[in-house]
Amino acid sequence: MAGSPVGVLALQGDYREHAAVLESFGADVVTVRRPEELARVSGLVIPGGESSVMDKLSRMFGLADPLKQAIAAGLPVYGTCAGLIMLADRIIDGIGGQQSLGGLDIAVRRNAFGRQRDSFEVEVEVPEFGEPAVHAVFIRAPVVEEVGERASVLAALDDGRVIAVEQGNLLGTSFHPEMTEDYRFHRRFYDRVLATRFA
Ligand code: GLN
Repeated sequence: MAGSPVGVLALQGDYREHAAVLESFGADVVTVRRPEELARVSGLVIPGGESSVMDKLSRMFGLADPLKQAIAAGLPVYGTCAGLIMLADRIIDGIGGQQSLGGLDIAVRRNAFGRQRDSFEVEVEVPEFGEPAVHAVFIRAPVVEEVGERASVLAALDDGRVIAVEQGNLLGTSFHPEMTEDYRFHRRFYDRVLATRFA
């Protein structure tokens, strides 16, 4: 869809920061809260926030099923933190009844770093990007505990815990690049949007 905008899921969380990053690339960005808005976009960012709330709101607003269909149909989607949880096929330590949209063949553990390390920042090597390392900001972050055979790992911490994955049209990070000035993950997502749009 040439010319169609890129969406940022705006039910909850830090969607404004993601919109600003995409606008810095020259993208036409729209917020998505309703199925009609989702139908117009050629890519979608699911921001950080609180995945259990995002799950409830997406079902309440009738967006969960259209989102699942769009993911299955190949819409490029980038999920950060809570957004990564939304994209995971399996959630560990979800609240009772918490559902995800799924799409990524992974299991994520919510709040995996515990209370002592609620928030922290660390340099992370991302082989696909080369130098310099990515400065990664973690806030009550999940980790990817199981990576199924359809998903591939883009980055892990020194102790081996997986924090960035990719699978076809889907990209997910445990951390928040929108809070830094390094937009290589957003660029990777946006390049896929452009490639899909003009394919
Ligand atoms: N802990 C949150 C959740 O479970 C994620 C935190 C974040 O997105 N910064 O959804």
